[in-house]
Amino acid sequence: MLQWFNASLNRKIGSLFVLLLSFLFVVIIFSIYKLRLIDFEMKQVAEVDIPLNEVIGHAEMLQLKQHIFMEQFRRLGGSNESFSSPETQFDQRRDALSTLLNRAVNIINKNVERHKIRFELLEHEALLSEIEAFHQHSDDFERQLGHILSVQNISESDWRDLENVAFLLDRSMGIILTQIESLSLEAAKYTEKHEREFMFINGMLGAGALVIGLLLTVYIIQVIRIRILRIHHQVDNIHESIETGTPIKVSSVDESESNPQDELGELEQDLQKVVRRLSDEMVSRMEAERQLMVLVTKDKLTGAYNRHKWDEQIKVSLDLAQRGTVFSLIMLDIDCFKKINDQFGHQVGDAVLQFFASSLLQCLRKSDLLFRMGGEEFAVLLPQQPLEKATQVAERILESIEMTDDDRIPPFTVSAGVSTYRSGDDDNSILTRADKALYQSKLNGRNRVTSEGA
Ligand code: GH3
Ligand code: MG
Ligand code: MG
Repeated sequence: MLQWFNASLNRKIGSLFVLLLSFLFVVIIFSIYKLRLIDFEMKQVAEVDIPLNEVIGHAEMLQLKQHIFMEQFRRLGGSNESFSSPETQFDQRRDALSTLLNRAVNIINKNVERHKIRFELLEHEALLSEIEAFHQHSDDFERQLGHILSVQNISESDWRDLENVAFLLDRSMGIILTQIESLSLEAAKYTEKHEREFMFINGMLGAGALVIGLLLTVYIIQVIRIRILRIHHQVDNIHESIETGTPIKVSSVDESESNPQDELGELEQDLQKVVRRLSDEMVSRMEAERQLMVLVTKDKLTGAYNRHKWDEQIKVSLDLAQRGTVFSLIMLDIDCFKKINDQFGHQVGDAVLQFFASSLLQCLRKSDLLFRMGGEEFAVLLPQQPLEKATQVAERILESIEMTDDDRIPPFTVSAGVSTYRSGDDDNSILTRADKALYQSKLNGRNRVTSEGA
């Protein structure tokens, strides 16, 4: 079974068809056997039927002659002028009939012995007693005929007696003939029964072969269809992930292990390998892309977005603002940063920059975006925030920086300038207004927030 499961499709379908052909072969062999049996039985029945029919034919002929003889005899009024001797004629016919009956009984007995015909004991006894009765009537008839021929004037009652006995004799013969005939019918019925059996069993086997053939075909189509659909599904997965840029869904269970090792199984396994490889490549490519994006969009020192990302993002924000989602901008600049560098060194300056960026992020919402615009200058984009809110955020930032008490960095302050979107703004105008406000903070003594127009 396992071998069949792993065999090639050709061999699988081939073996199923061999199975079907074997079944059909059995059907044909059975049909031939049954037909030969029926042919043999028909011959056997013919062996019973033909001689019995012959006997019946002769007997009926003799019966007819007997009638004609009786009629002629009556017409001549019992005279035996034109007959050699009625008794002789009667004897001849009786002997002939006896011979025929004996032949019939012999045929019947022989075939009953060989079981070619079914003959109930009662029927057999009835036939034998009827033959005996026939002989009895035959003796009576002979006696009555002898009596009529011996008297000069035949009385009416003598005629009636002779006719009665003739009638009984005739009836007895009729019964015997009917019984023998029924035996030949019985034999014919026996053959008919076999023919019906043959038609029924052959019909059933033929229908069985057809159903098995159909089921096998449907099974093969279904199995191949399911497996092709599975391959199709894998290909769809690849398409989908290429289009959406997401990793390919690879099933954790190795489906191919449970699949047969035929051509479709091999194709599925190959496809699985390709899918796995493609998935791995996509994951590492996406990781590389992510890292590249970080490199391209983020500042290495502080982790804030860089100027390049700013150029991209300000356009997006302006686009959204034109459709009703306004935003504000905070420009931040560390006060007297040059002095920190000069006094504590460039490394401490870098640490201050890093600290400042992380403090900023803590004060912002997830939707706010932090950019390092250059040196110690940062910008914050605050989507859906009006000027007042953005000013409050800037003040909170300055406050938290001023409150900083960290041994690793010297204390420092920050100045801020805030602007908000105005209809008709471009990427330059809103930045310029925030810069101006920041410059104003510097002019006013630093460590403060100035809103545009203030
Ligand atoms: P102001 O209060 O007017 O802003 O004075 P300032 O000293 O902060 O401004 P200025 O523009 O004169 O000096 C900025 C300094 O920041 C100059 C530059 O050496 C320094 N700087 C720029 N980028 C970096 C950096 O990545 N690391 C360090 N440590 N220093 C930097
Ligand atoms: Mg500065
Ligand atoms: Mg500066």
